[in-house]
Parts: sequence; structure tokens; C-alpha cells
Amino acid sequence: MNQTKYIFVTGGVTSSLGKGIIAASLAKLLQARGYRTTIQKFDPYLNVDPGTLNPYEHGECYVTDDGAETDLDLGHYERFLNVPTSQANNVTTGRIYLSVIEKERRGEFLGKTVQVVPHITNEIKDRMQLLGQSGDYDIIITEIGGTVGDIESLPYIESVRQLVWDLGENNAIVIHLTLVPFLAAAGELKTKPTQHSVKTLMESGIKADILVCRTEHELSQEIRSKLALFCNVKKEAVIQSIDASTIYEVPNLMLEEGLDIVALKKLDLPKKAAPDLKNWNTFLKRLKSPKHTVNVGLIGKYVEMQDCYKSILEAFIHAGAANETKVNVVSIHSEYIDEENIAEKFKDIDAILVAPGFGERGIEGKIAAVRYARENNMPFFGICLGMQMSVIEYSRNVLGLADANSTEMNSDTPNPVVNLMEEQKNVTDKGGTMRLGAWKCEIKPDTLAYKIYGQTTINERHRHRYEYNSAYVADLEKAGLKASGVNPDTGLVEIVEIENHPFFIGVQYHPEYKSTVANPHPLFVNFVAAAVKARKK
Ligand code: GLN
Repeated sequence: MNQTKYIFVTGGVTSSLGKGIIAASLAKLLQARGYRTTIQKFDPYLNVDPGTLNPYEHGECYVTDDGAETDLDLGHYERFLNVPTSQANNVTTGRIYLSVIEKERRGEFLGKTVQVVPHITNEIKDRMQLLGQSGDYDIIITEIGGTVGDIESLPYIESVRQLVWDLGENNAIVIHLTLVPFLAAAGELKTKPTQHSVKTLMESGIKADILVCRTEHELSQEIRSKLALFCNVKKEAVIQSIDASTIYEVPNLMLEEGLDIVALKKLDLPKKAAPDLKNWNTFLKRLKSPKHTVNVGLIGKYVEMQDCYKSILEAFIHAGAANETKVNVVSIHSEYIDEENIAEKFKDIDAILVAPGFGERGIEGKIAAVRYARENNMPFFGICLGMQMSVIEYSRNVLGLADANSTEMNSDTPNPVVNLMEEQKNVTDKGGTMRLGAWKCEIKPDTLAYKIYGQTTINERHRHRYEYNSAYVADLEKAGLKASGVNPDTGLVEIVEIENHPFFIGVQYHPEYKSTVANPHPLFVNFVAAAVKARKK
């Protein structure tokens, strides 16, 4: 077996420079040249995973097939590469410490003093090489969260230093992503922050092999030479990453800059074929020259922060391109919607998506939104909590159960049409205890769901504790709310829909996690198509 090669991506100067997108873009290029590539992310915070984090803190929690609650960058990896990730692709400091401390309690350190170096760093290094040892990949890209110089990143940086040393220079390289700011008053791009950031890296014993420089303006040859000289890299290894109109442009920009070629050279790997980006570029072309426009209302309570609904927004980009349609996602805060103002709020909206969520805040607005879409024949798509809200709305306004609710919102409701799953009743810990990951769903024939998926058995990812209460399914079916998809083993209702409506579907799972550039999710594709139709009317 060939030696697995490692690329580490560190960040400098500021956070939010888009390490995840650079890592995903490089991986895309390497994959398009024929290398089996994956990406993993190491996060420096102490939560064991982001599952317990409020979305305002850290954006969306991304869920993998194996039920890991992970950083949203894993979503980018999957969307770019179209290869599933898993728990092994995302490790936090909390997970590292938990595992080391558990080993200590089991007595595995044989009386030794347990220390950051070597015990924590060994644990980090083991996990950094885990996917590489599977033999499934030629190249592993590891993104180190945070910024060089942060106290909490130190053990990771030290582990990278050791690993580059252990593996040898041609088997492990470091890409440092920095910012080259433009000072308007001086009319100049400034290299000093990058120089300092590279110096900080060097103080930890790491020499950057490649610099990727985020910039708002083109880097001149002069600036490139200066960066090369001061930062101890070859000029060809100074890569410009200029602001792009869409993240999906970045692989092409990196190709133009030769990032993949420089990385392969440093890793002593052949270029193989020129990257095959045919399908990718077809997608980009459709994305950039849409024939239609639609306004989709995103009804949620975290709408102030775009990252909270990352996968949904990206799924709309994929589905928009598939329909040659520009999808304007209009964020509408569910807390401020009521029966009185809804017509005004929805006047320019062609279709609505009611978002996932937890807790009571904003749910009456979500229910009002479902009702409006149902009564006005507006395309409706409910995800997880959004689906549960459609069950409540139908129970209240069609079945006449005025007090119907979810026990998540009102534990004493006389009509708990959505209630806690049986298996959740004795769960007290919050971390990693929801119904998570991929579960099977059987779709009934002659349903909208079947028309959309074109198959009877599907696998979708989940993240919830509550479910559509089976005691109410028969009555609601009779009243017109069809259960069109169920879990074959437990009978849990996964999909609801209503007939005689242009498009009304609610799903207990999260289809957005599985939408990629190569495989736009059929639910989103069909929902956008329904929105285009609705707008024409
Ligand atoms: N709060 C709901 C539940 O736990 C829905 C969760 C979600 O939307 N992801 O079932």
C-alpha cells in the first residue's frame, strides 16, 4: 500500500477566512485528478461535539450518516466531494481530553503523570492518522480550527509539528491561510500581518509550505515576491485567494493559481490527469445564468445568523442551479409572524420552508405560516420541527383539536399530536442522545414523496427527540394529512403530505444534509420547481 499523504491547513491573522472552503476546494481538485481524498476538522473547543451548542454560538450542527453531530465545515466537505464523512472526520479538544481522561481512569498510563505533551498530543496524532490508516484514502487534508497563536490551538499545532517530523517532509505539508488586508487610506495591500502570523507558526516549529492569501484585490508580482521572501516559501507557493461571488467558484480559482500542483509537488506525487471538472462547471454555469427567479420564505427563529441554516441555504443553491432558477431565500423571523400580519409579510413570497428548531420560541409563527401556505395553495416544505408544526396546524385547524400541541412546547397538552419518542423517555444527558443519523424510510406508492424520490426505500439523516404521535395518525389521515413515508421497523411517520395542494410536504428528517453539487436533493429540486410554477401563476 502506498503511504497516505497529509496536508494540514492552519489559519492566521483572523478567523472566518474560509479554511473549510480552501480545504474543500483543494480536495475537490485532487479528487478531480484521481486522488482518493478526504478532509477532517480538529476543533479547539472543550465541548465533546457541537451538538450541545446553541446555533447562535457556532452555526448549524451538521449530522453525518453515522449519527455524529459535527462542525458545519463537514457539510462543505460533503457538498464539494460528494463523499460521506463520519465521526472520525471531526474531533474536538473535548473529545480528546475525554478519551485521555477515561484512559487514565482505566489505569492505562501505568502510574505515569498524564500531560499535554505527550499524552494529549499522542491522542491528537492518533486521531489525525485514523482515516489515513483505513487505506481508503491517498490524501488526508486536516483543517485545524481557530487561529495560530490561540492558547487553545497550541496542542494541535504541536501535534502537527511532531507529525510532519515523524512522517517526513514529502509525506506531510502545511498550508497556512492568512489575510492580506487592503488599507484604503494608503491604497495598498499589506503583508505585515501575514509575516507575523508565519513567524508565530515558526515559533512553534512549523514552516508553512504554502501560503494561501485571502485578499480583496489582486496580489501583484511584487507582493508575491515580498511574501515569498519574508515568509520563507517559494513564490509559486504564494497562492492568491481573492473574494469570489460564490464559494463554488473557489476550486477554479485555486486551479488557476496552481494550488493543487504546488501541493502535489511538495508531496512528491504525480499530477495524474488534468482535473475533470466538467460536471462542476456545468453546475456553475447554470448557477450563474438563471432563467427564472423565485422568492422562498425561510421561516425560522435563528434567521439573524446565516450559518444557522447553512445546509438549507446551500441545498437551495444546488436545487436552484438544477432548475436554472435564482432562489432568493427571504429570511422571515417566526417570532414576529401572526395571523394579522402574515399576508403582508408573505406578499412577495412564492413558497415557504419552515425550518428545524428546538423549544417554544417562535412556534406559533411557524404554525401560522403552515396554515397560510396550506390555505393559499402556496408550496410548503417543512423540515423536522417544520414538519411537526404542520401536524399541529392540521390537527388544530382541520381536525378541530384547538389545543393540539407538541409536548416539547406544552407537556400538559390534552392533544399531544407530537410527543417524546418512547426511547427518549429515560434520557437525561443532552449530548449525543437524540435520534441521530441515517434511518430507513419506506415510501408509499401514489404519493408526492414517491413521485419526488422515484423509489420506495430511502435513507435520510435525523436529529430529533419528538415524533408524530401514532395515536393521531389514523384520524389525521382521514382528515387528509397523509403519512406517505414511515420507518419500516418502528412505524414512526417520516413524511406527511396533503392531496389537492400544489406542493405540501413535511419531513421528520433533514434532507438538506445530503444535498451536494453532484447530487442536489430531490426534495429541494422539486420544491424549487413548485415555487417556479407558483410564481408564474
Ligand atoms: N425539537 C424537535 C425534536 O426534537 C425538532 C428537532 C429539529 O428540528 N431538528 O423533535
